[in-house]
Amino acid sequence: MNPIDILKTHQLKRTVCREGILSALLSANKALSEEEVKSKIDGNFDRTTFYRSFKTLIEHNVLHKIVVDEGLVKYAITIVGKTPEHHHAHFVCKKCHTVSCLDAFTFKVPNLPSGYQTEDSDLLIKGVCKMCTI
Ligand SMILES: [Zn+2]
Ligand SMILES: [Zn+2]
Repeated sequence: MNPIDILKTHQLKRTVCREGILSALLSANKALSEEEVKSKIDGNFDRTTFYRSFKTLIEHNVLHKIVVDEGLVKYAITIVGKTPEHHHAHFVCKKCHTVSCLDAFTFKVPNLPSGYQTEDSDLLIKGVCKMCTI
């Protein structure tokens, strides 16, 4: 996976800023907050360009949001070929605070009582990651 292919798959125009955001996330290999992404590509773009590009990537489902808690939101690249309805678990490490996508661990949204409608769902598992267990 590289930024150019990802943008192409989503039929988005290539821009240096979009490619920068995607490379930052690809090389991090974990979910990052908006600020963390920004700090990785800092100096290259003004705030407006950065936030606009970030928003576009989210709107087109290139990135998905992981709400860890009220003050912490992370973003990860959505695996190409999976629909937005594809649900996978997320993991938060209590020691190193790394947030990662467990792409292979999918779950089905349970059937809800009649009258209830699902808009969004997330499975967030908290614990200690592989790196911190060793
Ligand atoms: Zn850890
Ligand atoms: Zn994810």
